[in-house]
Amino acid sequence: QAKERGHNVCSYFSEELHQKRRSRYLIAAQLHHALERNEFSLVYQPKISLTTGEVVGAEALLRWHNAELGAVPADLFIPLAEDTGLINEIGDWVLEEAVAQAKTWCESGCATPIAINLSARQFQDGSILQRIENALSGHGLDSRWLSVELTETCFLANAEQTADTLLALRERGVGVSIDDFGTGFSSLSYIRTMSLDHLKIDRSFISSITGSNRDRQLVSAIIAMSQALGLSVVAEGVETHEQLEVLRELGCDQVQGYLICRPQRADDFVSWYEQYSITSFLNGAGA
Ligand code: C2E
Ligand code: MG
Ligand code: MG
Ligand code: MG
Repeated sequence: QAKERGHNVCSYFSEELHQKRRSRYLIAAQLHHALERNEFSLVYQPKISLTTGEVVGAEALLRWHNAELGAVPADLFIPLAEDTGLINEIGDWVLEEAVAQAKTWCESGCATPIAINLSARQFQDGSILQRIENALSGHGLDSRWLSVELTETCFLANAEQTADTLLALRERGVGVSIDDFGTGFSSLSYIRTMSLDHLKIDRSFISSITGSNRDRQLVSAIIAMSQALGLSVVAEGVETHEQLEVLRELGCDQVQGYLICRPQRADDFVSWYEQYSITSFLNGAGA
């Protein structure tokens, strides 16, 4: 009997594993055609200055809608795109689309710098600088309207080349943010050696700053350290007024999160932007 059950448990797990592999395979197969089928789009989420209340930028986030799979979460398909190498082509599309959008916004009443996310693989062949350069000149966009966000994993593979690229990007006027700070290996040495503008504290820390005194102290220390190094600090994933107030007390520079605005399509972003009130934000209304 026990043997019987053991066997069932085993086949159950291998069945589950098989399903997982199969669905990964199916998703990857669809992902290969996503660009040619025009299945990607970008949504935009604002970043707000905690001190002035102004909209200081928008982060572009990739969305994939497939006819068979429906909307596939970014956390699911981005790692697949990274593993298959597709992220380079997809990343080019994101860059092109975001720069075109920034240009459109510059010429309308919604001039907002746009930040794109870059994966480690996009730094590997050393052409990312030229690609960004081409996108900017192709659209005649001033570099101050574009910035990049990268995670700590970008420093693992080729620290020296990444350092050179970041320096060149900043010299060219493209802002650089370190994303999801605190979740990776968080070595202080790259903060010291890399050329950066902003540090984004991962939302896992933000979600617990009101409940855990330890996490509040930790965020406070990250803010102090960043500011001592001349970096501005962005808190991501702000969902409650309480979190916003704590971040204000701790002297955080910028905030981003569902409390203020969810990521949304460009036209909805513009509508939000037009009705956004600095005074009501500063008076604690959130947005
Ligand atoms: P990220 O760059 O750290 O982006 C923040 C994520 O948190 C986004 O998820 C955003 O929708 C979500 N978020 C924003 N505010 C809140 C909030 O208040 N509460 C909660 N619970 N979540 C919030 P999303 O869009 O699913 O993207 C996930 C990750 O996928 C991104 O994390 C980024 O690492 C990656 N990603 C997205 N677009 C791109 C892209 O174009 N290229 C690359 N290489 N990676 C991308
Ligand atoms: Mg990001
Ligand atoms: Mg992040
Ligand atoms: Mg993330």
